[in-house]
Amino acid sequence: MDVTARKTMEAELRRSELYYRSLVNDLPAMVCRFQSDGTLTFVNDLYCQLFQRTRDELIGFNFYDLIPPPQRALVAEGIAKLSPTQPVIEHEHEVLHPDGSIGWQRWVNRLLLDERGQPVEYQALGMDITARKRAELERERLIAELEARNAELEQFTYTVSHDLKSPLITIKGFASYIERDLAAGKLERIPSDLQRIISAADRMYQLLEDLLHLSRAGRQLNPPERIGLGLLISEAAAAVSGRLAERNVYLHLPPNLPEIYGDRTRLREVFQNLIDNAAKFMGDQPNPQIWIEARAADEPHFVLVSVRDNGIGIDPRYTQRIFGLFERLEQRVEGTGIGLTLVRRIVEAHGGKIWVESEGLGSGSTFYLTLPTALQTSAPAERINSHESKH
Ligand code: ADP
Repeated sequence: MDVTARKTMEAELRRSELYYRSLVNDLPAMVCRFQSDGTLTFVNDLYCQLFQRTRDELIGFNFYDLIPPPQRALVAEGIAKLSPTQPVIEHEHEVLHPDGSIGWQRWVNRLLLDERGQPVEYQALGMDITARKRAELERERLIAELEARNAELEQFTYTVSHDLKSPLITIKGFASYIERDLAAGKLERIPSDLQRIISAADRMYQLLEDLLHLSRAGRQLNPPERIGLGLLISEAAAAVSGRLAERNVYLHLPPNLPEIYGDRTRLREVFQNLIDNAAKFMGDQPNPQIWIEARAADEPHFVLVSVRDNGIGIDPRYTQRIFGLFERLEQRVEGTGIGLTLVRRIVEAHGGKIWVESEGLGSGSTFYLTLPTALQTSAPAERINSHESKH
């Protein structure tokens, strides 16, 4: 029997097998084959590399275990759709990296059919698209941030022009009364009308000053430094000592407050505003007090500081609103409504958050803010500097 033909065919088969094997292994893509329940029967080198497991570990392993549970149904659904009439399906999904981080992969799944058209196994070709996905998510985040900033700017322009108009209307109104009274020779009301004009101009000046200050703060931060929170708050309290003394307010400042990290001047301003407000909105509280406390925040490397008072409190419906520009709930108490907007900006520029809780009118308010602790030396510095360099 002449076996030459068979031998040649076998050799060709081996060569062809070698070609395909090396091709599959050198592909810059992950390749695997699996059964309908997800059991892997073949994996190429890149597949092993990306999941950091050996081929022996992977063969017989169920690939669904490499996918975060919430994504499994999506993948299973896609694979269940494969049939001799629809032998290919593509999908993107998250995967669990061996270090616990989440990545993204794009897969082309194919149902392998035998020569009679019967399903044999599944084959999948996958690309790691983590970098692209991260860039996409970052872009979406930036777009959302930009939209929010634009909306804020629009609101800002509207509010500023509206609020600056009201002293101008006062000035114009009283100037025309004076004009009319002068023409009629009635002089008695002129001094009080002039006084109204002067105070409206003063108010406008104050609004513009505060606005100017606001536009600078939170944008231009000084280089960050380690700051003892206790000392910083004492300095802030000293700056508003007039108000504290006037209302006989007792400030509880615990010892051993932690060190924080940021722009000393701006952070002092934060506490100055919060303490000043607490004293300002004491109402007729006979025993006015302010309590400062600090503990670790939920977010690592941040401290949660609270400034609590037993003053007039804040209607819970307005706890968000008061951080807006020119928002004032108590018109009888002097102010421009810029303080808390400034405070929020500074806190956010440090990567922190600020909010207020109050049981309601008459039961005091507690302002909470998170600030970076001094333990972390590089991240907030970079954040602040990059913030600074943007403006
Ligand atoms: P301003 O103090 O100039 O009015 P802010 O922006 O500092 O402006 O505060 C906005 C408003 O929030 C205040 O007018 C007041 O109605 C309310 N508010 C702020 N702090 C307190 C506080 N500690 N207790 C009660 N109300 C407060």
